[in-house]
Amino acid sequence: MQTKQYDIAIVGGGIIGLATGMRLAKEFPNLKTVVLEKESKVAQHQTGHNSGVIHAGIYYAPGSQKANFCAEGGRQLRQFCDEHSIPYEMCGKVIVAINDAEVPRLEELHRRGTANGAKGLEMVGPERLRELEPHAAGVKAVFSPNTGIIQFSKVSESYADVMRTHGGDISLGTRALSITRRDGRMFIETNTGTLSAKHIINCAGLHADKVARMMGVDIGVRAIPFRGEYFSIKPERAHLVRSLIYPVPDPRMPFLGVHFTKRITGEVEAGPNAVLAFAREGYKKTSFSLGDTMGMLSFPGFWRMSRTYWKTGFDEQYRSFMKGVFLRSLQTLVPDIQMSDLGEPGSGVRAQAVDRNGKLLQDFSIAETENAIHVLSAPSPGATASLTISRYIVDKAQTSFGLG
Ligand SMILES: Cc1cc2nc3c(=O)[nH]c(=O)nc-3n(C[C@H](O)[C@H](O)[C@H](O)COP(=O)(O)OP(=O)(O)OC[C@H]3O[C@@H](n4cnc5c(N)ncnc54)[C@H](O)[C@@H]3O)c2cc1C
Repeated sequence: MQTKQYDIAIVGGGIIGLATGMRLAKEFPNLKTVVLEKESKVAQHQTGHNSGVIHAGIYYAPGSQKANFCAEGGRQLRQFCDEHSIPYEMCGKVIVAINDAEVPRLEELHRRGTANGAKGLEMVGPERLRELEPHAAGVKAVFSPNTGIIQFSKVSESYADVMRTHGGDISLGTRALSITRRDGRMFIETNTGTLSAKHIINCAGLHADKVARMMGVDIGVRAIPFRGEYFSIKPERAHLVRSLIYPVPDPRMPFLGVHFTKRITGEVEAGPNAVLAFAREGYKKTSFSLGDTMGMLSFPGFWRMSRTYWKTGFDEQYRSFMKGVFLRSLQTLVPDIQMSDLGEPGSGVRAQAVDRNGKLLQDFSIAETENAIHVLSAPSPGATASLTISRYIVDKAQTSFGLG
């Protein structure tokens, strides 16, 4: 069989790989570009299991890539959706301080968000909070009118369609198994045959560090999988939540804390938490992969992270197994919620990049190596920011790969 030849191969058909593929196909029509995706459909992992929130850009440290990419990314995303008839709803969100001790952190979020370009943020008291979310309890809240909801798998499918329309290829059911360099090209062996590319863009999400290692590159970080578990709220009690109700997050942690999310489909979800998973795609409590677990345990950064965060990790595991504890976290935000209101469970798995020193990477992280770009970390709000992240990647590709 003849080896198919490409200029650029993107490994990973999640929202970041597809946004990048779409941009390359549109802006460089003379290049042959392919997205390789191991699943039979696009967006089956982080993108298809996320909370579906178009973030306004509130939380992120000023000057970080998250801060720089989120608000503008959300604007571009909405414009794309308008042009491609993808439904979304700007339902707004509240971040609720449940006691006076949380107020200074809430005020800091208001300052940060405003500095980051999140539009229309308002500090509100209990009365206005009751108007916005009649069942939420708190002493103060930040109201963000510019936060919305969407189905990111639909956005990804649309990016894929645009990419194909502009001549790009998307090869589904194609898993990159190994990569070798020869004569200035990279040969990617897959389950469906071998193809070659001059350049690779690694957008493999939970597997990004593995794909980098296939290229012989030690990028110094590991993707540690953290499962986010949630419950749907039974339809007859979904009125307890009008839009999105979030807690004030712990600033040391990259996750936002269990919250209530209305989905664009109308259901309400409560969660997700963040528990260590023993498989990169470990959607169930019982999921276990020996290879993934051994890989994690043999990474020094995992043990250093564990030493720092063992208490938080233990609390999260406890809350994961004790539904009553999960419920109590939810009741701090919406006291009327009861055990009988929690319906079907679900989950997503986040790729949390951890470096050798055990530091959790909070920001996006995109690195270059010879003829390759690696998206090492694209946590939330990566889906919201997919178009600004892809702009950054394609600009990098243009200079580093010398695209003309
Ligand atoms: C629980 C949860 C909630 C979140 N909530 C939000 C939110 O509300 N709003 C927001 O903006 N962001 C949110 N995020 C973050 C957002 O989902 C991610 O930033 C985004 O999906 C990352 O996209 P990706 O393309 O990098 O990764 P993925 O979507 O994980 O895509 C990577 C793809 O690579 C493929 N792949 C891996 N290895 C190979 C291989 N060897 N060969 C071929 N293909 C391969 C995988 O099958 C996968 O499809 C959330 C994430 C999670 C997990």
